[in-house]
Amino acid sequence: MGKIRLLADETASQVAAGEVVERPASLVKELVENSLDAGATRIQVEFARGGARSVTVRDDGSGMDRADARMCLERHATSKIRVGGDLATVRTMGFRGEALPSIASVSRFRLVTREAAADAGTEVLVTGGQVEAVREIGAPPGTQVEVKDLFYNLPARKKFLRGEETESAQILHGLEAMALAVPEVAFECLRDGRSILSLPRAGQLAVRIRDLFGADHLERLREIEPREEFGIRLEGYLARPGEGRRDRLRQIVILNGRPIHCPAVQQPLREAYAEALGRGLHPYAVLIITMDAALVDCNVHPAKREVRLSDPEVLRRMVFEAARATILQARQDLVAHVLAIPPEPTPVFHPQPPQQDLSWDRKAAPVSENVGPEISPGVAGSEEAEIAPPEEVPEVFRLLGTLTDGYLILEGAEGLVVLDVRAAGERILFEGLMRQLAEGEVSSQRLLLPEVVELPARERAWVLDHLDDLQAAGFQLEPFGGLTVKIEALPAAAAERDPGRLLHETVTAVRASGKLVRGRGVREAVARSVARLAAGETAPGDEGARRLVRELLRCELPYASPSGRPTMIQFSRLELARKFGRVR
Ligand code: ADP
Ligand code: MG
Repeated sequence: MGKIRLLADETASQVAAGEVVERPASLVKELVENSLDAGATRIQVEFARGGARSVTVRDDGSGMDRADARMCLERHATSKIRVGGDLATVRTMGFRGEALPSIASVSRFRLVTREAAADAGTEVLVTGGQVEAVREIGAPPGTQVEVKDLFYNLPARKKFLRGEETESAQILHGLEAMALAVPEVAFECLRDGRSILSLPRAGQLAVRIRDLFGADHLERLREIEPREEFGIRLEGYLARPGEGRRDRLRQIVILNGRPIHCPAVQQPLREAYAEALGRGLHPYAVLIITMDAALVDCNVHPAKREVRLSDPEVLRRMVFEAARATILQARQDLVAHVLAIPPEPTPVFHPQPPQQDLSWDRKAAPVSENVGPEISPGVAGSEEAEIAPPEEVPEVFRLLGTLTDGYLILEGAEGLVVLDVRAAGERILFEGLMRQLAEGEVSSQRLLLPEVVELPARERAWVLDHLDDLQAAGFQLEPFGGLTVKIEALPAAAAERDPGRLLHETVTAVRASGKLVRGRGVREAVARSVARLAAGETAPGDEGARRLVRELLRCELPYASPSGRPTMIQFSRLELARKFGRVR
């Protein structure tokens, strides 16, 4: 009795004003959060016609007595906060005492609730904010809130609702995120009478992820090493390299038990995965962040969707490091997996039977000291050294053929692989350049005739500001008269290119990559651009193809070009079998 108090005016005004209910999904969120706050272990959400017709949320939580059932519909009635200071520390999910009265004022609203110890429950009926009836009723312990005809009295707001499909998808997405925040709570969701979500209580996050998105999805993720710094704890799952999608619907961030949108998480994920994921894709993520609630301001957004952190830097760095570590570890998993595959009986990457393979026969005996995975094929003089015996190279792919438009077709341990020659070339060149940079300077090649090029004024100014960086990356330049610059040497990898164009395009690309790029970043950006401009288009012959694959697999991040395009796309055996209807 008497769990609910009215917020003092002062406290009320500390809370950002604003509409809580924008659409059915936001009211589902408020109601489910209330159920969780009430200690529910099972929550059922039922909605009709995208939620505009009706939304009902049932829980087995604490329930309310008659007085509270009446009181919870008063504005600023809440059992979760008493004075302004609590705002900073309250850990529960909702705390403004605004949701229920707001919802009840724009719908036909029915509340049925019973405390477990009580003999009977209470029913409260409200229409457009007017309490119509409060009476005793038989009910199971817990609470049921029914919201019908949302915005029936606000036609202008109602017009803003999107189509049923869109609203339904939003509700479902919101529920998914909440379900990930509390795996120990069972959820069920019915849409127009049909079950669309049924989640048993789960002991572990991984089980909840699997129950929600399927075992396939869980395999696209890797558990991160939990880390804790300055009172911020980070755990959860992040995408393996190459795993993501165009929207952020599967990038779920939970802060102190509540799903949020948080730039301090999105940005480092984007940066960390830039080279491990195709352009425009967002890595899958389920990140669980726990920190002192005093460092989080949840009242930036009226529906508490976005939060502001008093010091986002630590979190940003932690997320970035966790992502980099996950990408590297995922790659090591793959190598371990590949090494566990028994070697093929025939030489790799060769479409012909071994007896016709003269180079193989030739090298078999005498040159064995030169043979091994460590030899860089680009440098090794003898063709023989190019093919290592199967026992010494992790045999991952068998070359099946090439397509004229610059793709290799390979068979991998897990299915069919299509490799983009250009993207792979960029990746290999880029990592080579980065290695050289790390060791000092990129090797450069003098031009027989230095070339004097004219650059737009700003570009030239930029070049003059960054002569050191450009030199480290293999360009040797000298300011010349007027708007011109003299090019004396180019990065060796790109020595075949037109010097003026290479410089101009590199400078343009680096400048376009923005303010973030400074210091070492400039050199890296130059290397990225050079790799992009120097990489070849056309499919190499068999020999070159093998070398390309082998060098790509030696890269640190083999799955994407430095500009973020995928290097390989895999069609798994299962996927093929499904497409051909062999399995369902
Ligand atoms: P807030 O959640 O910010 O306190 P609400 O308007 O959402 O404000 O809810 C008002 C109060 O009603 C809550 O503080 C809580 O005491 C009570 N309440 C709401 N929903 C439930 C529920 N499902 N079970 C038990 N109590 C509830
Ligand atoms: Mg609430």
